[in-house]
Amino acid sequence: MSAARRPLKSLGQNFLVDGNIIDRIIRCADIGPADSVLEIGPGRGALTGRLAQRAGRLLLVEYDHALAAALKEQYRDEPRVTVVDGDILAVDLAALLGDAPAGWKVVANLPYNISSPVLFRLLDCRTLFSRLVLMLQREVGERLVASAGCADYGVTTALLGLWFDMRREISVPPGCFHPRPKVDSVVVSFVPLAEPRVEVGSEETFRRVVKGAFAMRRKTLANCLKGAGLASADEIGAILDACGIDGQRRGETLSLEEFAALSRRLTGLQT
Ligand code: SAM
Repeated sequence: MSAARRPLKSLGQNFLVDGNIIDRIIRCADIGPADSVLEIGPGRGALTGRLAQRAGRLLLVEYDHALAAALKEQYRDEPRVTVVDGDILAVDLAALLGDAPAGWKVVANLPYNISSPVLFRLLDCRTLFSRLVLMLQREVGERLVASAGCADYGVTTALLGLWFDMRREISVPPGCFHPRPKVDSVVVSFVPLAEPRVEVGSEETFRRVVKGAFAMRRKTLANCLKGAGLASADEIGAILDACGIDGQRRGETLSLEEFAALSRRLTGLQT
């Protein structure tokens, strides 16, 4: 595909140019003829050709009109490949993907400037997927697989950890891309769970608890939760006591089970 135009920084265009890493990503995605695959941001097609060779069906969503047009041209005689010229954050994924009995696989070297909203989008559509293999900025990937108590542990760890088994698969240095990004990268695999890892009551409440707990990293858990407006100060104090959680702790020390226990109690208050 033409490399004539300069990559667009605004679209996070750091194209993969390392054949070894491309092979490893494809192996990690474990694609076969029975698979339906969504590639987000195929760009100049570093992963696309191999995905097209292996998958039964391939859907490409690319926001750069020129690159989407070039992909349409390249795959115009290939009915198994569909190119959507669109924004992954705006397309109606459920309508676009439709039924795939075994679930879609998602493979992407994500534009790092929108990786968090894309992760939350994929989380919201998790029932459509059987496996995700995503290239992320190293800090974002490490946050996802962090354990409670680590400095890296954060909102995405808890919210995605509720619904996915996540594994750090491949470390990718800047030299594997053109142009070279300023950061290191990692490939993380995600396998959706049939049920949430722990019962949380209302998921909306769980999200508010987790986001509230991390909203002000230097404040205590009790103050963060009060600030989140989920309940009165007295109610928050009573719920922390009932869950056996010290309100002086910081959000990043709470396990998923502890967040879930708080969420269940707070859900109870709101119903
Ligand atoms: N997959 C290619 C590779 O590995 O070389 C390109 C990866 S590059 C990091 C990210 C790609 O996502 C670019 O092609 C960019 O144009 C595309 N992109 C950026 N924002 C997007 C969006 N909102 N929706 C879909 N694609 C997007």
